[in-house]
Amino acid sequence: MIKAVRGTRDLLPPDTALWNFVEATARDVFRAYNFQEIRTPIFEETQLFARSVGEETDIVSKEMYTWEDRGGTQSEKFSEFLDVVARAQQDPAYKATLDNTELYNKYLAQGRLRGQSLTLRPENTAGVVRAYIEHKLWDRGLNKLFYIGPQFRRERPQKGRYRQFYQIGAEAIGPPTSGSESPARDAEILEMLATFLDRLGITGWTLELNSVGCPADRARFNEALKKALEPVVSQMCDDCQRRAVTNPLRVFDCKVPEDQPIIDGLPRISQFLDEGCRKHFDEVKEILKAVGVEFRENDRLVRGLDYYTRTAFEFTHGALGAQNAILGGGRYDGLSESLGGPQAPGIGFAIGEDRLVMSVGKSAEEVSCKPDVYIAPLGEGMNREAARLARELRRHDLVVELGDESFRLKKSFDTADKLGARFALIVGENEVKAGAFSLKNLVTGEQVSVPRADLAQAIQVRK
Ligand code: AMP
Repeated sequence: MIKAVRGTRDLLPPDTALWNFVEATARDVFRAYNFQEIRTPIFEETQLFARSVGEETDIVSKEMYTWEDRGGTQSEKFSEFLDVVARAQQDPAYKATLDNTELYNKYLAQGRLRGQSLTLRPENTAGVVRAYIEHKLWDRGLNKLFYIGPQFRRERPQKGRYRQFYQIGAEAIGPPTSGSESPARDAEILEMLATFLDRLGITGWTLELNSVGCPADRARFNEALKKALEPVVSQMCDDCQRRAVTNPLRVFDCKVPEDQPIIDGLPRISQFLDEGCRKHFDEVKEILKAVGVEFRENDRLVRGLDYYTRTAFEFTHGALGAQNAILGGGRYDGLSESLGGPQAPGIGFAIGEDRLVMSVGKSAEEVSCKPDVYIAPLGEGMNREAARLARELRRHDLVVELGDESFRLKKSFDTADKLGARFALIVGENEVKAGAFSLKNLVTGEQVSVPRADLAQAIQVRK
Protein backbone atom coordinates (compact mmCIF):
# COMPACT_ATOMS: atom_id res chain seq x y z
CA MET A 1 0.00 0.00 0.00
CA ILE A 2 1.28 3.45 -0.85
CA LYS A 3 1.06 5.82 2.12
CA ALA A 4 1.55 9.56 2.54
CA VAL A 5 5.25 10.39 2.76
CA ARG A 6 6.76 10.66 6.28
CA GLY A 7 6.22 14.13 7.68
CA THR A 8 3.24 14.82 5.40
CA ARG A 9 -0.39 14.04 6.12
CA ASP A 10 -3.91 14.17 4.78
CA LEU A 11 -6.27 16.67 6.33
CA LEU A 12 -9.68 15.05 6.41
CA PRO A 13 -13.19 16.14 7.36
CA PRO A 14 -14.38 17.01 9.94
CA ASP A 15 -10.92 18.48 10.81
CA THR A 16 -10.83 20.48 7.58
CA ALA A 17 -13.80 22.46 8.95
CA LEU A 18 -11.51 23.69 11.70
CA TRP A 19 -8.86 24.67 9.13
CA ASN A 20 -11.49 26.54 7.13
CA PHE A 21 -12.71 28.26 10.28
CA VAL A 22 -9.15 29.40 11.07
CA GLU A 23 -8.53 30.62 7.52
CA ALA A 24 -11.90 32.39 7.25
CA THR A 25 -11.22 34.15 10.56
CA ALA A 26 -7.74 35.13 9.33
CA ARG A 27 -9.21 36.61 6.15
CA ASP A 28 -11.78 38.57 8.18
CA VAL A 29 -9.11 39.97 10.50
CA PHE A 30 -6.73 40.82 7.63
CA ARG A 31 -9.56 42.67 5.91
CA ALA A 32 -10.18 44.81 8.99
CA TYR A 33 -6.50 45.86 8.96
CA ASN A 34 -6.48 46.41 5.20
CA PHE A 35 -4.13 43.55 4.28
CA GLN A 36 -4.54 42.00 0.82
CA GLU A 37 -3.68 38.53 -0.40
CA ILE A 38 -0.53 37.62 -2.32
CA ARG A 39 0.16 34.15 -3.77
CA THR A 40 3.75 33.36 -4.71
CA PRO A 41 5.01 30.12 -6.30
CA ILE A 42 5.62 27.07 -4.13
CA PHE A 43 9.15 26.71 -5.51
CA GLU A 44 11.76 29.34 -6.19
CA GLU A 45 15.40 29.55 -7.13
CA THR A 46 17.54 28.12 -4.33
CA GLN A 47 19.61 31.30 -4.28
CA LEU A 48 16.62 33.29 -3.04
CA PHE A 49 16.51 31.35 0.24
CA ALA A 50 20.28 31.04 0.60
CA ARG A 51 20.61 34.81 0.33
CA SER A 52 17.64 35.85 2.45
CA VAL A 53 17.12 33.20 5.12
CA GLY A 54 20.91 32.78 5.47
CA GLU A 55 23.39 30.04 4.57
CA GLU A 56 24.16 29.31 8.22
CA THR A 57 20.59 28.80 9.39
CA ASP A 58 19.27 25.30 10.06
CA ILE A 59 16.69 25.82 7.35
CA VAL A 60 19.17 26.49 4.56
CA SER A 61 22.00 24.30 5.78
CA LYS A 62 19.99 21.14 6.33
CA GLU A 63 16.24 21.37 5.86
CA MET A 64 15.50 22.46 2.31
CA TYR A 65 14.01 20.31 -0.43
CA THR A 66 16.33 21.26 -3.25
CA TRP A 67 16.82 19.66 -6.64
CA GLU A 68 18.53 20.38 -9.88
CA ASP A 69 15.92 21.06 -12.47
CA ARG A 70 16.42 20.07 -16.06
CA GLY A 71 18.30 22.44 -18.34
CA GLY A 72 17.51 26.14 -18.29
CA THR A 73 15.06 26.16 -21.20
CA GLN A 74 12.33 23.58 -21.01
CA SER A 75 11.40 23.69 -24.69
CA GLU A 76 11.36 20.47 -26.72
CA LYS A 77 14.09 21.90 -28.85
CA PHE A 78 16.26 22.25 -25.80
CA SER A 79 15.66 18.69 -24.62
CA GLU A 80 16.56 17.48 -28.11
CA PHE A 81 19.71 19.46 -27.73
CA LEU A 82 20.41 17.82 -24.38
CA ASP A 83 20.10 14.41 -26.03
CA VAL A 84 22.58 15.49 -28.65
CA VAL A 85 24.97 16.69 -25.96
CA ALA A 86 24.61 13.46 -23.99
CA ARG A 87 25.49 11.48 -27.13
CA ALA A 88 28.38 13.81 -27.86
CA GLN A 89 29.78 13.20 -24.41
CA GLN A 90 29.91 9.47 -25.08
CA ASP A 91 31.02 9.60 -28.68
CA PRO A 92 34.04 11.82 -29.40
CA ALA A 93 33.70 11.38 -33.16
CA TYR A 94 30.12 12.61 -33.03
CA LYS A 95 31.21 15.49 -30.79
CA ALA A 96 33.79 16.53 -33.34
CA THR A 97 31.03 17.02 -35.91
CA LEU A 98 29.17 19.28 -33.49
CA ASP A 99 31.98 21.41 -32.14
CA ASN A 100 31.62 25.02 -33.05
CA THR A 101 28.08 24.67 -34.37
CA GLU A 102 26.13 27.77 -33.47
CA LEU A 103 23.55 26.18 -31.18
CA TYR A 104 26.13 24.13 -29.28
CA ASN A 105 28.30 27.15 -28.67
CA LYS A 106 25.42 29.30 -27.66
CA TYR A 107 24.27 26.99 -24.91
CA LEU A 108 27.77 26.24 -23.75
CA ALA A 109 28.54 29.94 -23.58
CA GLN A 110 25.48 30.63 -21.49
CA GLY A 111 26.38 27.80 -19.18
CA ARG A 112 22.80 26.65 -19.38
CA LEU A 113 23.63 23.00 -19.64
CA ARG A 114 23.68 22.75 -15.92
CA GLY A 115 20.16 22.53 -14.52
CA GLN A 116 18.79 25.31 -12.40
CA SER A 117 18.80 24.70 -8.66
CA LEU A 118 15.26 25.00 -7.31
CA THR A 119 13.85 24.68 -3.80
CA LEU A 120 10.41 24.09 -2.31
CA ARG A 121 9.78 27.20 -0.26
CA PRO A 122 10.65 26.70 3.42
CA GLU A 123 9.00 30.04 4.28
CA ASN A 124 7.24 32.78 2.38
CA THR A 125 8.82 36.13 3.27
CA ALA A 126 11.64 35.66 0.76
CA GLY A 127 9.09 35.00 -2.02
CA VAL A 128 7.06 38.07 -1.07
CA VAL A 129 10.13 40.31 -1.08
CA ARG A 130 11.24 38.84 -4.41
CA ALA A 131 7.78 39.63 -5.82
CA TYR A 132 7.99 43.14 -4.31
CA ILE A 133 11.23 43.75 -6.21
CA GLU A 134 10.20 41.98 -9.42
CA HIS A 135 6.90 43.87 -9.75
CA LYS A 136 8.21 47.19 -8.40
CA LEU A 137 5.54 47.18 -5.73
CA TRP A 138 7.11 50.29 -4.16
CA ASP A 139 5.07 52.28 -6.68
CA ARG A 140 2.07 51.43 -4.48
CA GLY A 141 3.63 52.89 -1.34
CA LEU A 142 3.11 50.70 1.71
CA ASN A 143 2.15 47.14 0.77
CA LYS A 144 0.16 45.19 3.35
CA LEU A 145 0.10 41.63 2.12
CA PHE A 146 -0.97 38.29 3.53
CA TYR A 147 -0.57 34.70 2.38
CA ILE A 148 -1.88 31.28 3.36
CA GLY A 149 -0.19 28.14 2.10
CA PRO A 150 2.12 25.15 2.49
CA GLN A 151 5.84 25.38 3.32
CA PHE A 152 8.41 22.57 3.27
CA ARG A 153 11.27 21.72 5.62
CA ARG A 154 13.03 18.41 6.08
CA GLU A 155 12.83 18.43 9.87
CA ARG A 156 12.53 15.43 12.14
CA PRO A 157 8.76 14.85 12.25
CA GLN A 158 7.07 14.93 15.66
CA LYS A 159 3.82 16.19 17.15
CA GLY A 160 3.23 19.68 15.77
CA ARG A 161 6.17 19.43 13.40
CA TYR A 162 5.75 18.32 9.80
CA ARG A 163 7.74 18.36 6.60
CA GLN A 164 4.84 19.89 4.72
CA PHE A 165 3.23 22.37 7.05
CA TYR A 166 1.04 25.40 6.57
CA GLN A 167 1.66 29.02 7.36
CA ILE A 168 -0.58 32.04 7.53
CA GLY A 169 1.56 35.13 7.30
CA ALA A 170 1.57 38.81 6.54
CA GLU A 171 4.10 41.45 5.56
CA ALA A 172 3.98 45.25 5.66
CA ILE A 173 6.68 46.47 3.28
CA GLY A 174 7.34 49.64 1.32
CA PRO A 175 9.75 52.51 0.73
CA PRO A 176 10.79 54.39 3.89
CA THR A 177 8.62 57.34 2.81
CA SER A 178 5.53 55.12 3.12
CA GLY A 179 5.97 54.79 6.87
CA SER A 180 7.16 51.20 6.55
CA GLU A 181 9.89 51.80 9.11
CA SER A 182 7.64 53.24 11.77
CA PRO A 183 7.22 51.49 15.12
CA ALA A 184 3.50 52.03 14.52
CA ARG A 185 3.65 49.28 11.86
CA ASP A 186 5.25 46.84 14.32
CA ALA A 187 2.66 47.60 16.98
CA GLU A 188 -0.24 47.37 14.50
CA ILE A 189 0.88 43.91 13.37
CA LEU A 190 1.31 42.69 16.94
CA GLU A 191 -2.08 44.03 17.95
CA MET A 192 -3.63 42.41 14.87
CA LEU A 193 -2.15 39.06 15.94
CA ALA A 194 -3.55 39.43 19.44
CA THR A 195 -6.97 40.17 17.92
CA PHE A 196 -6.72 37.16 15.63
CA LEU A 197 -5.84 34.74 18.44
CA ASP A 198 -8.62 36.15 20.61
CA ARG A 199 -11.14 35.70 17.80
CA LEU A 200 -10.11 32.07 17.45
CA GLY A 201 -10.88 31.58 21.12
CA ILE A 202 -7.21 30.91 21.90
CA THR A 203 -6.43 31.98 25.43
CA GLY A 204 -3.26 31.73 27.45
CA TRP A 205 -0.85 32.85 24.72
CA THR A 206 2.27 34.86 25.52
CA LEU A 207 3.80 37.49 23.27
CA GLU A 208 7.59 37.37 23.63
CA LEU A 209 9.29 40.48 22.35
CA ASN A 210 12.86 41.56 21.67
CA SER A 211 14.85 43.93 19.51
CA VAL A 212 17.76 42.41 17.60
CA GLY A 213 19.02 45.86 16.58
CA CYS A 214 20.40 47.00 13.25
CA PRO A 215 23.39 45.51 11.39
CA ALA A 216 25.88 47.81 13.15
CA ASP A 217 24.59 46.75 16.59
CA ARG A 218 24.72 43.14 15.49
CA ALA A 219 28.35 43.51 14.38
CA ARG A 220 29.40 44.88 17.78
CA PHE A 221 27.32 42.27 19.54
CA ASN A 222 28.86 39.52 17.41
CA GLU A 223 32.34 40.61 18.41
CA ALA A 224 31.42 40.58 22.08
CA LEU A 225 29.70 37.24 21.70
CA LYS A 226 32.68 35.67 19.96
CA LYS A 227 34.92 36.84 22.81
CA ALA A 228 32.56 35.52 25.45
CA LEU A 229 32.25 32.19 23.66
CA GLU A 230 35.98 31.59 23.28
CA PRO A 231 36.65 30.19 26.77
CA VAL A 232 33.41 28.16 26.98
CA VAL A 233 32.61 26.94 23.47
CA SER A 234 34.58 23.69 23.81
CA GLN A 235 32.05 22.56 26.44
CA MET A 236 29.11 23.19 24.09
CA CYS A 237 27.32 20.99 21.53
CA ASP A 238 28.73 20.44 18.03
CA ASP A 239 26.21 22.80 16.44
CA CYS A 240 27.19 25.59 18.83
CA GLN A 241 30.88 25.02 18.13
CA ARG A 242 30.15 25.53 14.43
CA ARG A 243 27.89 28.52 15.08
CA ALA A 244 30.50 30.18 17.31
CA VAL A 245 32.72 30.44 14.25
CA THR A 246 30.25 31.12 11.46
CA ASN A 247 27.36 33.00 13.08
CA PRO A 248 27.57 33.33 16.89
CA LEU A 249 24.09 34.86 17.20
CA ARG A 250 22.61 31.48 16.26
CA VAL A 251 23.94 30.04 19.52
CA PHE A 252 20.76 31.42 21.09
CA ASP A 253 18.74 28.98 18.95
CA CYS A 254 20.37 26.07 20.79
CA LYS A 255 17.91 23.79 22.58
CA VAL A 256 20.47 21.40 24.13
CA PRO A 257 19.75 21.47 27.91
CA GLU A 258 23.42 21.17 28.98
CA ASP A 259 24.30 24.31 26.97
CA GLN A 260 21.64 26.50 28.57
CA PRO A 261 23.56 27.61 31.69
CA ILE A 262 26.46 28.68 29.44
CA ILE A 263 24.11 30.57 27.12
CA ASP A 264 22.49 32.29 30.10
CA GLY A 265 25.90 33.78 30.95
CA LEU A 266 26.49 35.28 27.46
CA PRO A 267 26.05 38.98 26.64
CA ARG A 268 22.68 40.07 25.25
CA ILE A 269 21.82 42.12 22.17
CA SER A 270 19.81 44.51 24.37
CA GLN A 271 23.13 45.84 25.75
CA PHE A 272 24.28 46.80 22.24
CA LEU A 273 21.30 48.64 20.74
CA ASP A 274 22.10 52.10 19.40
CA GLU A 275 19.98 55.13 20.22
CA GLY A 276 17.74 54.75 17.11
CA CYS A 277 17.00 51.08 17.72
CA ARG A 278 16.35 51.60 21.42
CA LYS A 279 13.90 54.43 20.70
CA HIS A 280 12.17 52.36 18.03
CA PHE A 281 11.77 49.45 20.44
CA ASP A 282 10.54 51.72 23.27
CA GLU A 283 7.88 53.20 21.00
CA VAL A 284 6.65 49.75 19.91
CA LYS A 285 6.25 48.83 23.59
CA GLU A 286 4.50 52.12 24.43
CA ILE A 287 1.92 51.65 21.67
CA LEU A 288 1.29 48.07 22.78
CA LYS A 289 0.68 49.31 26.31
CA ALA A 290 -1.63 52.02 24.99
CA VAL A 291 -3.79 49.49 23.14
CA GLY A 292 -3.66 46.97 25.99
CA VAL A 293 -1.69 44.13 24.41
CA GLU A 294 0.39 42.32 27.00
CA PHE A 295 3.92 41.19 26.20
CA ARG A 296 6.99 39.76 27.87
CA GLU A 297 10.46 41.01 26.99
CA ASN A 298 12.78 38.12 26.16
CA ASP A 299 16.31 39.23 25.32
CA ARG A 300 17.32 35.70 24.27
CA LEU A 301 14.88 35.74 21.39
CA VAL A 302 16.87 36.01 18.14
CA ARG A 303 14.68 33.93 15.80
CA GLY A 304 15.95 31.32 13.37
CA LEU A 305 16.35 33.48 10.27
CA ASP A 306 19.23 35.81 9.51
CA TYR A 307 17.29 38.66 7.97
CA TYR A 308 15.64 40.04 11.08
CA THR A 309 16.44 43.56 12.33
CA ARG A 310 15.02 45.48 15.28
CA THR A 311 11.68 44.04 16.47
CA ALA A 312 11.63 40.24 16.77
CA PHE A 313 8.75 38.33 18.35
CA GLU A 314 7.10 35.02 19.00
CA PHE A 315 3.71 34.03 20.35
CA THR A 316 3.89 30.88 22.42
CA HIS A 317 1.16 28.69 23.83
CA GLY A 318 1.59 26.41 26.84
CA ALA A 319 -0.68 23.65 25.57
CA LEU A 320 1.62 22.87 22.65
CA GLY A 321 4.42 21.26 24.69
CA ALA A 322 7.94 21.28 23.26
CA GLN A 323 6.92 22.84 19.94
CA ASN A 324 5.27 25.73 21.74
CA ALA A 325 5.80 28.57 19.25
CA ILE A 326 2.58 29.25 17.36
CA LEU A 327 4.04 32.04 15.34
CA GLY A 328 7.09 34.16 14.88
CA GLY A 329 8.15 37.23 13.04
CA GLY A 330 9.99 40.47 13.00
CA ARG A 331 11.37 43.37 11.08
CA TYR A 332 13.69 42.85 8.09
CA ASP A 333 14.82 46.30 7.05
CA GLY A 334 17.78 45.22 4.91
CA LEU A 335 16.27 42.19 3.19
CA SER A 336 15.21 43.89 -0.03
CA GLU A 337 18.71 45.34 -0.56
CA SER A 338 20.35 41.99 0.08
CA LEU A 339 18.22 40.59 -2.76
CA GLY A 340 19.23 43.39 -5.10
CA GLY A 341 16.15 45.56 -4.50
CA PRO A 342 15.78 49.14 -3.27
CA GLN A 343 15.56 50.14 0.36
CA ALA A 344 12.28 48.64 1.60
CA PRO A 345 11.88 48.29 5.34
CA GLY A 346 9.30 45.74 6.34
CA ILE A 347 7.87 43.68 9.14
CA GLY A 348 6.01 40.40 9.02
CA PHE A 349 5.15 37.15 10.72
CA ALA A 350 4.33 33.54 9.95
CA ILE A 351 1.84 31.55 11.96
CA GLY A 352 2.18 27.78 12.01
CA GLU A 353 -1.35 26.84 10.99
CA ASP A 354 -0.94 23.19 12.04
CA ARG A 355 -0.20 24.32 15.60
CA LEU A 356 -2.81 27.04 15.53
CA VAL A 357 -5.50 24.52 14.65
CA MET A 358 -4.38 22.39 17.63
CA SER A 359 -4.81 25.38 19.97
CA VAL A 360 -8.22 26.60 18.78
CA GLY A 361 -10.74 26.58 21.62
CA LYS A 362 -13.41 24.92 19.45
CA SER A 363 -13.96 21.41 18.16
CA ALA A 364 -14.25 20.46 14.51
CA GLU A 365 -17.83 19.40 15.27
CA GLU A 366 -18.72 22.88 16.52
CA VAL A 367 -17.58 24.61 13.35
CA SER A 368 -18.72 21.92 10.89
CA CYS A 369 -21.61 22.66 8.60
CA LYS A 370 -24.47 20.15 9.14
CA PRO A 371 -27.24 19.53 6.59
CA ASP A 372 -30.38 21.61 7.18
CA VAL A 373 -32.48 18.91 5.62
CA TYR A 374 -32.17 15.30 4.52
CA ILE A 375 -34.50 14.38 1.68
CA ALA A 376 -35.79 10.82 1.86
CA PRO A 377 -37.24 9.61 -1.46
CA LEU A 378 -39.65 6.79 -0.76
CA GLY A 379 -40.33 4.28 -3.56
CA GLU A 380 -39.53 3.92 -7.22
CA GLY A 381 -39.32 7.04 -9.38
CA MET A 382 -38.93 9.30 -6.35
CA ASN A 383 -35.20 10.08 -6.88
CA ARG A 384 -36.27 12.42 -9.65
CA GLU A 385 -38.76 14.25 -7.45
CA ALA A 386 -36.20 14.41 -4.66
CA ALA A 387 -33.59 15.89 -7.01
CA ARG A 388 -36.04 18.60 -8.09
CA LEU A 389 -36.85 19.49 -4.51
CA ALA A 390 -33.19 19.51 -3.52
CA ARG A 391 -32.41 21.92 -6.34
CA GLU A 392 -35.19 24.25 -5.22
CA LEU A 393 -34.12 24.22 -1.59
CA ARG A 394 -30.41 24.68 -2.35
CA ARG A 395 -31.29 27.78 -4.31
CA HIS A 396 -32.53 29.16 -1.00
CA ASP A 397 -29.07 28.60 0.43
CA LEU A 398 -30.07 25.56 2.44
CA VAL A 399 -27.65 22.67 2.97
CA VAL A 400 -29.38 19.60 1.53
CA GLU A 401 -28.40 15.93 1.63
CA LEU A 402 -30.14 13.40 -0.58
CA GLY A 403 -31.06 9.80 0.24
CA ASP A 404 -31.96 7.14 -2.26
CA GLU A 405 -35.31 5.69 -3.28
CA SER A 406 -34.04 2.19 -2.50
CA PHE A 407 -33.73 3.06 1.22
CA ARG A 408 -36.48 2.15 3.67
CA LEU A 409 -37.75 5.08 5.70
CA LYS A 410 -35.98 3.81 8.85
CA LYS A 411 -32.64 3.71 7.06
CA SER A 412 -33.19 7.25 5.75
CA PHE A 413 -33.98 8.55 9.25
CA ASP A 414 -30.95 6.79 10.71
CA THR A 415 -28.66 8.25 8.04
CA ALA A 416 -30.14 11.72 8.54
CA ASP A 417 -29.53 11.40 12.27
CA LYS A 418 -25.96 10.30 11.78
CA LEU A 419 -25.28 13.28 9.54
CA GLY A 420 -26.74 15.62 12.16
CA ALA A 421 -29.45 16.92 9.80
CA ARG A 422 -32.10 19.03 11.51
CA PHE A 423 -34.99 17.94 9.27
CA ALA A 424 -35.97 14.97 7.21
CA LEU A 425 -38.27 15.55 4.26
CA ILE A 426 -40.27 12.59 3.02
CA VAL A 427 -40.91 12.43 -0.71
CA GLY A 428 -43.35 9.64 -1.61
CA GLU A 429 -45.90 9.29 -4.39
CA ASN A 430 -48.78 10.54 -2.22
CA GLU A 431 -46.87 13.64 -1.17
CA VAL A 432 -45.95 14.48 -4.75
CA LYS A 433 -49.60 14.12 -5.81
CA ALA A 434 -50.83 16.26 -2.92
CA GLY A 435 -48.09 18.88 -3.46
CA ALA A 436 -47.35 18.83 0.28
CA PHE A 437 -44.53 17.01 2.07
CA SER A 438 -43.95 15.60 5.54
CA LEU A 439 -41.22 17.56 7.27
CA LYS A 440 -39.90 15.90 10.38
CA ASN A 441 -37.92 17.86 12.94
CA LEU A 442 -35.23 15.38 13.95
CA VAL A 443 -34.49 17.18 17.19
CA THR A 444 -38.05 17.43 18.58
CA GLY A 445 -39.61 14.58 16.61
CA GLU A 446 -42.45 16.91 15.53
CA GLN A 447 -43.80 16.19 12.03
CA VAL A 448 -45.89 18.57 9.91
CA SER A 449 -47.17 18.59 6.35
CA VAL A 450 -45.91 21.60 4.39
CA PRO A 451 -47.01 22.74 0.90
CA ARG A 452 -44.19 22.68 -1.64
CA ALA A 453 -44.07 26.48 -2.02
CA ASP A 454 -43.61 26.98 1.72
CA LEU A 455 -40.90 24.36 2.30
CA ALA A 456 -37.80 26.57 2.14
CA GLN A 457 -39.32 29.09 4.48
CA ALA A 458 -40.52 26.42 6.88
CA ILE A 459 -36.99 25.03 7.15
CA GLN A 460 -35.39 28.46 7.45
CA VAL A 461 -37.80 29.65 10.11
CA ARG A 462 -37.19 26.61 12.24
CA LYS A 463 -33.41 26.87 11.89
P1 AMP B 1 9.52 30.27 11.22
O1 AMP B 1 9.21 30.46 9.76
O2 AMP B 1 10.59 29.27 11.48
O3 AMP B 1 9.65 31.54 11.94
O4 AMP B 1 8.22 29.57 11.82
C1 AMP B 1 7.01 30.24 12.02
C2 AMP B 1 6.02 29.27 12.60
O5 AMP B 1 5.79 28.22 11.68
C3 AMP B 1 6.51 28.57 13.85
O6 AMP B 1 6.23 29.34 14.98
C4 AMP B 1 5.71 27.29 13.83
O7 AMP B 1 4.43 27.49 14.41
C5 AMP B 1 5.53 27.01 12.37
N1 AMP B 1 6.46 25.96 11.91
C6 AMP B 1 7.75 26.06 11.57
N2 AMP B 1 8.25 24.88 11.19
C7 AMP B 1 7.24 23.99 11.28
C8 AMP B 1 7.10 22.59 11.02
N3 AMP B 1 8.10 21.86 10.54
N4 AMP B 1 5.89 22.01 11.25
C9 AMP B 1 4.84 22.73 11.72
N5 AMP B 1 4.91 24.05 11.97
C10 AMP B 1 6.08 24.67 11.76
